[in-house]
Amino acid sequence: VSEVRALRKRMRIKVRGSDVRDPMLSFSVAGLQAGAAAAGPALRERAQTICENVERSRYTEPTAIQMESLPALLAGRDLLGCAPTGSGKTAAFLLPMLMRLRTRPTKVRGPEGLIIAPTRELAAQIVREFEKLALGIKGLRAALLRKGIKSPGRFDALVTTPERLAAMVAEKRVDLSTVHYLVLDEADKLFEMGFLEHVDEIINACGPETQRVMVSATMPPQIEELAQSVLRDPVEVVVGTKNA
Ligand code: ADP
Ligand code: MG
Repeated sequence: VSEVRALRKRMRIKVRGSDVRDPMLSFSVAGLQAGAAAAGPALRERAQTICENVERSRYTEPTAIQMESLPALLAGRDLLGCAPTGSGKTAAFLLPMLMRLRTRPTKVRGPEGLIIAPTRELAAQIVREFEKLALGIKGLRAALLRKGIKSPGRFDALVTTPERLAAMVAEKRVDLSTVHYLVLDEADKLFEMGFLEHVDEIINACGPETQRVMVSATMPPQIEELAQSVLRDPVEVVVGTKNA
């Protein structure tokens, strides 16, 4: 226990919340499987594939935000994560997402994962990171939501800006009731850019049981307020200072 405390202090990690788990110190099959709802043989194989992809990406050890986010998110908790730009927040929410999405045949069933990002460029980058980390996992596909996309429900995960998605929800071109893992990336930017209303509509269009994740490089009071109203019994992780 005191070792964990010393590690958090050394890495300038602050964690708040009920039943917080110990940080994950290395990427391992067992670590990825732990907390996974029904960690059967299929999930073991998937965890193995993910570990290989992590290794191929030369991620030798988890970053501070990843150490704390992975156990919480794998266990199905809501999370508020604040860590500096470039500290690996994308993999912090993608790796647990890859473990928690169900694989399935090609028939349309609706997306289970949804990631909201402030810009198209960032959304495209997240799709690329998803593809890199999901390489070799059969039946897990992500897509950037585009106007011309025929049936978004074919994909397991959608990545999009709030505007694009809100428009498609309004036109009933996408059904979010199947979403059970929702990420708001760069929450501070989403707020600054005036996307709060769209974000609200999107959250409401997802099922009430959806696991919710908010990450941000800074944590202005408005973001903490938003987190309070949107997240349920979250684990809160701050790496460094809130306004780095
Ligand atoms: P953030 O979203 O916090 O700004 P990113 O998720 O974009 O940061 O990651 C920044 C860079 O660090 C990316 O190039 C990513 O591939 C790399 N990265 C992520 N996790 C690790 C890790 N555990 N070890 C080494 N590099 C990593
Ligand atoms: Mg980022």
